[in-house]
Amino acid sequence: MLGKNLRVRVANRQYVWLLATGLLLGISSLLLQASWNQVAIADLPPKVGAETNDPLLTEADAGFRLALKTLDDLDRKQRRHYQPPQHFQGQTINGVKLPPHQKAIALTFDDGPWPQTTATMLDILKEHDVAATFFVVGSNIARFPDLLKRVAQEGHAIGNHSWNHGYHYHHPALAQREIQRTSEVIEKHTGFKTSLFRPPGGYLKNGLVAYARAQKQVTLMWTVDDTYSGNVDKVVTNVLENAKPGGIVLMHDGGGDRKLMIQALPHIITQLKLEGYQLVTIPQLLEMAETK
Ligand SMILES: [Zn+2]
Repeated sequence: MLGKNLRVRVANRQYVWLLATGLLLGISSLLLQASWNQVAIADLPPKVGAETNDPLLTEADAGFRLALKTLDDLDRKQRRHYQPPQHFQGQTINGVKLPPHQKAIALTFDDGPWPQTTATMLDILKEHDVAATFFVVGSNIARFPDLLKRVAQEGHAIGNHSWNHGYHYHHPALAQREIQRTSEVIEKHTGFKTSLFRPPGGYLKNGLVAYARAQKQVTLMWTVDDTYSGNVDKVVTNVLENAKPGGIVLMHDGGGDRKLMIQALPHIITQLKLEGYQLVTIPQLLEMAETK
């Protein structure tokens, strides 16, 4: 009998312990949950809805709206409807003056979109997490619109490089047609309105730049180019020796055989980064520039 009573008491004691442990676990998990909620709420972005006094706006909506607004600002400022700073509008520039602590340079690609080459350049840029600027030719966009869409989708800036890439004199109506038609087709395929123009061949006096200037577009020349023919080493060395903060590097993704450039590009990117350069788009470079 005694033995049986003892066993019952022992069993009861075990039950009490189990109950106590269960309660403790329950309470601590509730406490943990409460403190996690506090952290989660503290981490949420500021309440956008507070400004609008919208009673139906939930916390999640506010975060979503804030994210959309941020993307929208970024798009408007840097890409989709980019308006260059006023002091650059209607100007021709070959590089900008940066504040002393900034070491940025812009890679630019001309004459595309072009089969194979543009896609390969985009792959290289993506692999190195670099955004560049593509000055595109209207008649090429008409042939390879999907490549231009990819350029836009992958976060690069887009500039106008005329419709026919002609070096000859353009009377005003022809200049307007060359530039306007290209702008329209860029916008049609990407939604981007560009105010950046690069004259074919760098010719400043054949009528195209006169029209771009009248339209308050920025004409972008360059500080260093890829035309040094020979081998990959020479191309890379030429770019690196002439690179400087606020500079613009002219390269080509279209218009011919660009094998040398494809081979040189990864080295150029890697070396510029090693030298402490930040690789930016033309809109970013213009925004970083000193105003005086
Ligand atoms: Zn060109």
